[in-house]
Amino acid sequence: MKAIIVANWKMNPATMREAKKLFDATREASESARNVGLIVAPPAIFLRELRARYKGKRIAFAAQSTNAEAGGAFTGGISLLQAKDAGAQYVIVGHSERRAKGETSEEAGKIVVAALASGVTPILCVGELSRTHSGEHFSFVREQLQAGFAGVEPGKIVKVLIAYEPVWAIGGEKTMSPHDMHEMTIFIKKTIVGAKGEAGMNVKILYGGSTTESNAAPMLQESGVVGLLVGHVSIDAYRFSTLINSLG
Ligand code: PEP
Repeated sequence: MKAIIVANWKMNPATMREAKKLFDATREASESARNVGLIVAPPAIFLRELRARYKGKRIAFAAQSTNAEAGGAFTGGISLLQAKDAGAQYVIVGHSERRAKGETSEEAGKIVVAALASGVTPILCVGELSRTHSGEHFSFVREQLQAGFAGVEPGKIVKVLIAYEPVWAIGGEKTMSPHDMHEMTIFIKKTIVGAKGEAGMNVKILYGGSTTESNAAPMLQESGVVGLLVGHVSIDAYRFSTLINSLG
């Protein structure tokens, strides 16, 4: 199975011109990365134009965030159908940078349900802010998962991708070991099984948090995840190309 790699550009780059340049470099890199299924999540304002200039099949597009509501008085918001119309097949839900701005787990759960109903695959992000030895991070992640999956019918569980992203590991040099991620992979599966039944064993889990060209391959090989969500390295064309080509 191909590794799922999500390139989360966040609020970068500054211009459409630079976005096209970055996208062209990403597309070129994806052509030799045969074991990778790439999902590019550019800022929404660049999405339609980037989608329109791509004729291949290797890259899919994601919105970085949407509302759950179908339309109405939500200044600044983007609906799922608008994102889909612009070319998004996926949507990142509950990213920690959105949660830090007030998006709740309950809202994330509503977006997950609305995305499934709209035919857009949700990538639900969960992850604790910090870790202590007392293991509180497990209950934190459990609550985020339970709220995120609250409205999902058991038959649709496997249509949701889960991105486990410990907030303390995002954007820096600190990353999690594949061994610790393996423990978390098992915990996430058990939690979904507990909430939704046996189908939870088959959920697809991605890891995100300071993934680089040196730690991507071991994480994929040793932790039980099926993919990676990559932030800052995805906007450095050279590093991102090295990363996806390190995956065989
Ligand atoms: C992210 O934004 O979800 C992320 C994982 O970022 P980074 O790779 O920069 O840690």
